[in-house]
Amino acid sequence: MNIIIFGPPGAGKGTQSKYLVKKLNAFQISTGDLLREEISNNSDIGKSIINDMNDGKFVSDEIVNKLIKNIISDPKKKNKLIFDGYPRSLSQAKNLNLLLEKSNQKIDLILFLNVDKETIIKRIEKRKLIENRSDDEKSTILKRYDTFMKTTQPVLNFYSENPNFKEIDGSMEIDEITRKIDTFINV
Ligand code: AMP
Repeated sequence: MNIIIFGPPGAGKGTQSKYLVKKLNAFQISTGDLLREEISNNSDIGKSIINDMNDGKFVSDEIVNKLIKNIISDPKKKNKLIFDGYPRSLSQAKNLNLLLEKSNQKIDLILFLNVDKETIIKRIEKRKLIENRSDDEKSTILKRYDTFMKTTQPVLNFYSENPNFKEIDGSMEIDEITRKIDTFINV
């Protein structure tokens, strides 16, 4: 099963992805993690994105698309992909469809974790104390939320016609969200 978890920063995408990875013996593709890895390796990509990421801006589609390409075509991961934070733009969504088609795969489930701004601010402020991510400052959170809202509508329109598109109230407790997700997975 290939699953997209879609939602604003702080919606719980990472937490639920990790649950699905265990449950389905699958692989998480977190573009945020892949980008943070580039920064901590001080690679050329890392150097080119550090300012935008710390500023809450999106990294270019070109860079993100490049990072996920090989993972999607990896036969070991075929039909076991959990997309966390990708796609985030219409162009990424279209690119994903093309890459999946090339390797005879498709998206089986699209989970939209919908959360309001106030809940997100509270959650990310808590996460800042635990993970100390440099883009979890309050001013940056607001920017990241606004960036998400701007680019989200075309992606939602793209997927909402899909019969596998499911919207979940992401302001629920973690366990409740997990139980809801379970109802969409028949294994
Ligand atoms: P995340 O860990 O998913 O919250 O992502 C952290 C940051 O990484 C975002 O605020 C963006 O700057 C960048 N990022 C992650 N995924 C993407 C993506 N699919 N497209 C563009 N930028 C991304």
